[in-house]
Amino acid sequence: MEDEPRGSLTYRLCPRCARAVPIRSTERYCINDGNWLLEACPLCGAAITSPYTRFCGCCGLEFAHLIVDAKALTAKELPE
Ligand SMILES: [Zn+2]
Ligand SMILES: [Zn+2]
Repeated sequence: MEDEPRGSLTYRLCPRCARAVPIRSTERYCINDGNWLLEACPLCGAAITSPYTRFCGCCGLEFAHLIVDAKALTAKELPE
């Protein structure tokens, strides 16, 4: 029985402190610093498959460039 194919485990990643949590976790924000957690590469959409990811393995984007203030992001995403 293989209900979990190999390599399917993905993570959310904090670009500020590089903390990773399994995608199944309910965490959306880093519990260390409150930064918004990346679910996938925002540029190419590649999943984060390693908890030690610092760069996208697909397009090379450096996730540390994506540090976002969670409150600023929320404000920006509010519909007009
Ligand atoms: Zn963090
Ligand atoms: Zn990418």
